[in-house]
Amino acid sequence: MSETVNTYDVIIVGSGVGGLTAGLTLQKLKPEMKTLILEQHYAPGGYISGFKRKGYYFDSGAEGLVFTGENQVFKRALNGLGVNLQLLNIDPVEVLRYPDKEIIMHADPEKYIAELKEKFPENKNEIESFFDVLRKINHDYNSIVKSHLNPSFKELMKIVLTSPTMRKYAMMSFKAFIDKFITNQQLKDVLSIYCLWLGVPSDSIKAVSAGLIFFYPVFSGHYYPKGGMFTLAKKLADSFTEKGGEILYKKRVTRILTKRRKAIGVELEDGTQIKAKWIISNADAKRTVFEYVGMKKFPDRYLVKIAKRNQSVSGFSVFLGLNKDLKGYPSHIAYNLQPDKYIKDILQGKYDPKEVMIRIPTNIDRDLAKNGKSSVILLSFAPYEWENKWNGHDEELYEKTKQKYADKLIAIAENVIPGLSKNIEVKLVSTPLTYERYSLNSQGAWYGPRADSHRVGKRTPIRRLFLTGANTVGAGVPSNFFSGIDTAKHIANRFSASKRALRVLFPVISHLSFRARNRKAIFTPS
Ligand SMILES: Cc1cc2nc3c(=O)[nH]c(=O)nc-3n(C[C@H](O)[C@H](O)[C@H](O)COP(=O)(O)OP(=O)(O)OC[C@H]3O[C@@H](n4cnc5c(N)ncnc54)[C@H](O)[C@@H]3O)c2cc1C
Repeated sequence: MSETVNTYDVIIVGSGVGGLTAGLTLQKLKPEMKTLILEQHYAPGGYISGFKRKGYYFDSGAEGLVFTGENQVFKRALNGLGVNLQLLNIDPVEVLRYPDKEIIMHADPEKYIAELKEKFPENKNEIESFFDVLRKINHDYNSIVKSHLNPSFKELMKIVLTSPTMRKYAMMSFKAFIDKFITNQQLKDVLSIYCLWLGVPSDSIKAVSAGLIFFYPVFSGHYYPKGGMFTLAKKLADSFTEKGGEILYKKRVTRILTKRRKAIGVELEDGTQIKAKWIISNADAKRTVFEYVGMKKFPDRYLVKIAKRNQSVSGFSVFLGLNKDLKGYPSHIAYNLQPDKYIKDILQGKYDPKEVMIRIPTNIDRDLAKNGKSSVILLSFAPYEWENKWNGHDEELYEKTKQKYADKLIAIAENVIPGLSKNIEVKLVSTPLTYERYSLNSQGAWYGPRADSHRVGKRTPIRRLFLTGANTVGAGVPSNFFSGIDTAKHIANRFSASKRALRVLFPVISHLSFRARNRKAIFTPS
């Protein structure tokens, strides 16, 4: 039976970075508001979460942050919300290992360019020209977009109007851009590595976007919260509750309630209904629209937009607790990556891993490495539908499928860390089904909708229902954080406007009702 409990000003569905930041911003701007976050998992953070097994710490999703260096935009905004993180430098940003070569991506552009010139001596001039243009793109963009990461249309127009470099490359794909400057295929692979952060090949992303993403870690640094990525989630959640917000865990929202195309509350799995004036969904946009609200409530145009969006890529990962100190290895290693070929195969539904991304969080934060042990995460992209959806319909078969591919990834990783398979104390495996179960993102998508899919904004056709996080702006912790701020500011302004309206209207209404009451008293026969 359904039960209606407390009413709130705002309910946020999901405690990913977008949801947590929206909640925290609301409580900071409007402490008088009552904000509730409902999270289906037992801990906050979504893809910025982390977990421990037998003393080993693992990040569940994100493994590095950009824009978090001293005085950089994400760090400033976090501090502005009262969240102070100790951030550790990830340097090198990544080490790219190929059977015949190793390229160190230093978190310093000059050192990195020198490294590239040393490893690709025949292409020295090409490298110079490529980076000259990237520098200009970065400079022109940052001179307009200063305090956030999700530029408005007006800002984009300003950039295009004021920057000849931006105009020249605005419509060019990153593939065409690289082809224009670089002739060596392996160097092209190295330079397009960060298209993988968006889960698309280099011909599906604009040169300017990829150029900026490329710049971030190498030119502005790459950082890791002390204590693991979960520290960021925990600090956001703690600051939110300290400022008067409320979070309930293990509460899965199954419906968003509406009345005359206006959101009025949510319903949980057990039938409990909770009312609110505004609802923010940090959950998967397709589920929000088709499952939680119901397609009948939306105009066809919006439904088509949402339905046409492809989900981004998912992945297969192995979490290893190693009874061995891996000190000396870089924390971020990519083995044998040929980004375009790799991602195109995955997007076509193929999975035959020959490459792996290795993360060793204990080599960034040595305090996570207890008694000479190490945590290792092996990441690979993987299609959701692979092997009859990973044989998830049959428990035994699912387990076998997981172990088969885990062994493959471990064997590939042994090209970089010999003897890796000999020291394993903990071994956990995630398939796209695992990512889907823990995040409720359809198809276990790692980065929200695909980067080359149509974007929808924070507003929806349902009044007082908003979206936030990767749903609106695509992948990346910092941009999902700023999307939370953006959605919250919008609602805080509306809250102020409705209060102002009430202040103006209240004397008028009370005067009219006083007159009406008096007239009634005068004319009511006794
Ligand atoms: C393996 C991996 C590596 C990544 N690496 C990086 C990186 O290095 N750097 C980077 O910047 N980004 C990285 N990303 C991307 C980044 O982590 C995400 O873009 C970002 O964390 C998504 O945040 P979000 O606010 O959209 O919410 P999500 O993280 O998707 O969280 C949504 C939350 O809502 C909850 N929820 C959903 N539906 C419901 C419901 N019906 N009821 C209640 N709760 C619900 C979920 O449980 C979850 O907690 C990575 C992602 C993955 C998966």
